[in-house]
Amino acid sequence: MSKSQTDLSASENTTRNTLDPSDWQALREQGYRMLDDIIDHMSALHDKPVWQPIPQAKRELFTEPLPHGPSSLASAHQRFMEDVLPYSLGNASPGFMGWVVGGGSPVGMLAEMLASGLNANLGGRDQMPLEVERQILQWMRELFSFPETASGLFVTGASMANMISVLVARNNMLGQSVRRQGLADSPKKLVAYTSAGAHGCIMQAIDLCGIGTDYLRVIELDDQYQMNLVQLKQTIDNDRAQGLTPFFIAGSAGTVDVGAIDDLDAIADIAAAENLWFHIDGAFGAMAMLSKKIAPRLKGIERADSIAFDFHKWLQVPYDAGFIIVRDGSLHHDTFASPATYLRRETRGLAGGSPWPCDFGPDLSRGFRALKTWFTIKVYGADKLGSIIDKTCDLAQYLKIKVDAQPELEMRAPVALNVVCFRYRGNHAATVEQLNDVNANIIADLHESGLVAPSATSIHGHIAIRAAMINHRIEQRNVDILVEQVLRLGRLKLL
Ligand SMILES: *Cc1c(COP(=O)(O)O)cnc(C)c1O
Repeated sequence: MSKSQTDLSASENTTRNTLDPSDWQALREQGYRMLDDIIDHMSALHDKPVWQPIPQAKRELFTEPLPHGPSSLASAHQRFMEDVLPYSLGNASPGFMGWVVGGGSPVGMLAEMLASGLNANLGGRDQMPLEVERQILQWMRELFSFPETASGLFVTGASMANMISVLVARNNMLGQSVRRQGLADSPKKLVAYTSAGAHGCIMQAIDLCGIGTDYLRVIELDDQYQMNLVQLKQTIDNDRAQGLTPFFIAGSAGTVDVGAIDDLDAIADIAAAENLWFHIDGAFGAMAMLSKKIAPRLKGIERADSIAFDFHKWLQVPYDAGFIIVRDGSLHHDTFASPATYLRRETRGLAGGSPWPCDFGPDLSRGFRALKTWFTIKVYGADKLGSIIDKTCDLAQYLKIKVDAQPELEMRAPVALNVVCFRYRGNHAATVEQLNDVNANIIADLHESGLVAPSATSIHGHIAIRAAMINHRIEQRNVDILVEQVLRLGRLKLL
């Protein structure tokens, strides 16, 4: 048999034994029902519980053995509607204020459907989906005033983006030989800096990149929850005096606990004077560049060497869509590309289109996260998205005013952006333990009520109720419900 005959019989086999339906019209009709159901769900989020506990019997439905035979698409859809959808996290709901989680959007959802229909793999090669990703990179360069030579990459989330920044910074300080020799061979002992307000993924990145968490200096916060820059300078001096090599500093644009923004301009000055890589974790906060009100407070972000951020938080793109942008694109490329990369890349045909995204991060196969991001920005427009960010910050101020007006409640941190930390304190003196216990239980009761879902955080050993306004669906009435319910539950618990 010649080679072409083998290929032909293989493709014939595929047409006989394929995953496509024999009846496309029936699939189309079932598809419309699925679309109707999820749009019905989205349009009725206001009337549904934010979250509800998962009954044990429902949980056990997902412990069945591997199904060897088929089931109908309709029955799988029914299982989703009855057994999965009602017991999800609830972050799309207007009452969801827990942690820092985005709400998604109908436009993003539809774009995700198109992307998965296309089943594009954005590792590389010459294809239009990569131009969509490059378009987003170009918009981000514009937003952050980064040069045309800056590189960028979609990743799962800010955790991965922060890790990539540590790797690029490591190679910047040690040179590309570190890729062969590892850290062990280097006479330089690297030290990194961040603040006590930094997200846990910064420490994890330092660990995963082999720097070692003993070499991450966690700088104290000042009374505005910003990195204490006097302490930062002293710590750098001490480390140098001990023969260590400071290489990386991660500032925060929106801390996860209280939404504080470090003095980015001042950190940029220190980084420049000390020859440190200036990275910003702007997981949610960096997108506030779209808000005319908040953007001036991010001054200095344009001086960063790299910024990690998420489209899936304040920009409401459906999960997951994180991004890393690096000022020095060639350094970013040299951190990940294999030395023989250019030799293997074609200049024409399907295998052209260099440089490829797989040369800028650890992933080879990559989904089309750019499409739902492109649809979101294109359809709503950057100004509308910025106005959503303003709205959530206004709601945070509204909640602060309500808390300040209630003697039984007290604020626990300043409101810099969209995060409000407060607690129930009652009318009489109570111990820290009592208050921690009462507030932790108020939060759990609120979750189980399905009415509203804030999260807990601990500030200087005190449990606070944290309402993070990220979701575009939150309205004043959801904030009113939060205050009413905290007062009601607090009064029941702290007699
Ligand atoms: C959410 C968040 C992260 C982690 O981002 P993921 O997208 O969840 O990986 C890091 N830093 C801050 C400040 C965050 O809010």
